[in-house]
Amino acid sequence: MKTLLNNIDLNEALFGNSNIGFVPTMGSLHDGHISLIKKSIKLSNKTIVSIFVNPKQFNNKKDYKKYPRNIKKDLKILKKLKVDFVYLPKIKDIFRTKNKIKIKLNKQDKIMCAKYRKGHFEGVIEVMTRLTKIVNPSKIFMGEKDFQQLLLVKKYVEKNFKSKIISCKTIRDKNKLALSSRNTLLKKDDLINAGKISKSLIIFKRKLLNKKNLNNLILMKKNELKKKYDIKIDYLELRNIKNLKLTNKIQNAKIFIAYSINNVRLIDNF
Ligand code: AMP
Repeated sequence: MKTLLNNIDLNEALFGNSNIGFVPTMGSLHDGHISLIKKSIKLSNKTIVSIFVNPKQFNNKKDYKKYPRNIKKDLKILKKLKVDFVYLPKIKDIFRTKNKIKIKLNKQDKIMCAKYRKGHFEGVIEVMTRLTKIVNPSKIFMGEKDFQQLLLVKKYVEKNFKSKIISCKTIRDKNKLALSSRNTLLKKDDLINAGKISKSLIIFKRKLLNKKNLNNLILMKKNELKKKYDIKIDYLELRNIKNLKLTNKIQNAKIFIAYSINNVRLIDNF
């Protein structure tokens, strides 16, 4: 495994390689990231994993500061997986001032996390545009856990580059909680409750199959979860998986949730 600390290292190392698979991450790697990396190794000639905590996608400075970082452990994991390259850029490698990129979301995209985390996806799309330009991969592997991010990045990146976005299934722990680097910030009780919330939503979605008035039931579920687990819910919504429009039909739809449990914000979809 070669460690690339700047863009010169990267250009030298990647020169002449084709069918490059790219897994962008913010580190604190877990089995969710590992599943993306394994898929890339399977489908690509060379795999490059980046670890970069992107300041531009944090709408809150405190959140950026407390985001878990664990580079030593990450490098061990990547070495064991036999990843070809790990890219550890500095802020200046990504955000050179001369080429400014201004991302503006469409009105219909300003939903869910775009509504509750102002500037977040603009920051994500900007960093993904810059990373794609630098790495120039054939394929970029991204998780369905961050479904809204996956669709938005796919729309922007595939419009401007030849790189294809490959979506990867959400990996969960034994209690059905979606793995996330942020889970390490949860207290033990909150971790247990977050698992219970996931299980409850998996069962709830199945029950919606033969029901009418789904939006009403979803509103009731939202109130139930709020009371039972003392959480702050940003949204609990049923949306179409192709265009993310609100829907009252369970076919081709997913339940999307974002909530804070003791000030740790989690998102998921079912
Ligand atoms: P992050 O390091 O949180 O920015 O995530 C890097 C990539 O890993 C993104 O494409 C995420 O969607 C993906 N990812 C994070 N958690 C999971 C998970 N539990 N299952 C599958 N993919 C995930």
